[in-house]
Amino acid sequence: MSKVQIPSGKPAGRIICPRCGNVKDFVEIASNVLVTNHYVQNRDGSFSPIENETEVAGEVRLFCGRCSADVTEFHAHFQEMIF
Ligand SMILES: [Zn+2]
Repeated sequence: MSKVQIPSGKPAGRIICPRCGNVKDFVEIASNVLVTNHYVQNRDGSFSPIENETEVAGEVRLFCGRCSADVTEFHAHFQEMIF
């Protein structure tokens, strides 16, 4: 597995795709995801969602949204920067 170089001088800056320079589009892919949706059935037979829960049992990887390069080493930084 090759290590992707983080641009020097920008250790805490924006994530930049080392392959294509993309700074805008990123895709997060989680494997082995268990999605639990809780519904109540109404009197007319329809269902209304009450709550949903997503549990990730597998690994989560981060990819460049433009060239699909694997930038998972930036994932921790990525998660900290989601507001
Ligand atoms: Zn890219």
